[in-house]
Amino acid sequence: MAKTALITGITGQDGYYLSRLLLEKGYRVVGLVPPDRQHSLTKLNELKDQLTTYLVDLTRADAITQAMDVLQPDEIYNLAAPSFVPDSWKDPLGTLDLITGTATRMLEATRQLGLRTRFYQASSSEIFGQVCSSPQTAETAFRPTNPYGAAKLHAHWTMVHHRERYGLFACSGILYNHESPRRPPQFVTRKVSLAAAAIKLGLRDRLSIGNLEAKRDWGFAGDHVEAMWRMLQAETPEDYVIGTGKLHTVRDLVATAFDCVGLDWQKYVESDPHLVRADEHFQLVADPSKAKRNLGWEPQVSFEELVSTMVLTDIKYLEAGTLVPAGVA
Ligand code: GDP
Repeated sequence: MAKTALITGITGQDGYYLSRLLLEKGYRVVGLVPPDRQHSLTKLNELKDQLTTYLVDLTRADAITQAMDVLQPDEIYNLAAPSFVPDSWKDPLGTLDLITGTATRMLEATRQLGLRTRFYQASSSEIFGQVCSSPQTAETAFRPTNPYGAAKLHAHWTMVHHRERYGLFACSGILYNHESPRRPPQFVTRKVSLAAAAIKLGLRDRLSIGNLEAKRDWGFAGDHVEAMWRMLQAETPEDYVIGTGKLHTVRDLVATAFDCVGLDWQKYVESDPHLVRADEHFQLVADPSKAKRNLGWEPQVSFEELVSTMVLTDIKYLEAGTLVPAGVA
């Protein structure tokens, strides 16, 4: 019988790539979707008709428990979160409830129902925050510097407590930045790929950017969701950092994106001090060796391939005038 995978946050970037992977593997994929997010299901494009959605208010423990009792999932991927980190300052309590509250409600439902469900918690490199050593492993000290990171850390510990106290098969993937043509445009990679594409097509002529020396460990979302799945197939539940292990600057990103379309970035890009963030940390870089050793996981898509796919897809998308590129890599 096909395994059932339950996904929260299915309408986001990772939800798309994970659903696609699990459907290819023959899973019955069920998205737990809050009623007010139903309209976002169109973002799943061609996958929409292949998966099941179950409308649930994720702030209600009884609704989550009832859904899990009905669905009896073999695996849960808890991806739901407001993803844009700076926004968490505007609503710290809402961020905490969505991230930590949902994780706790799902873990408690698993425990109370006595399910043997395997649980994946989407954690984030933001839990390292003001890092004390680089690169990071799952054993590096956690020192988050914003409400998003603090909420992700609380959810991480709640998951660890359920694993240690109740013996649940639960684990965290501490993921570094992961991108794709489905990344929302407020993130710098998509902002840059859209700008390079639009400038190439003569639709605009400038790009304002923040700190060109900012650095990130950028990987491809499709590679990172493969690591999520592998974590739940392992013999024992363990936590992993998932990233490429390579740092690139925003300057590298801009130069690579403009180079793909044969443009000299220096002619089009201007630095805007209002876009420079205070209190940034630029040594967030993964040591993914444990994932390679235990799970056989390695990123398949290089930084250059990722950026060029994003730019070329945005050119197609701008030419076609569609909002979300359908069936993109
Ligand atoms: P984050 O790592 O989740 O905050 O992802 P972002 O894509 O928003 O930001 C990645 C890095 O790019 C951060 O260090 C930003 O400060 C830096 N950055 C530089 N210029 C920009 C910009 O114009 N927009 C955004 N979003 N980030 C920028």
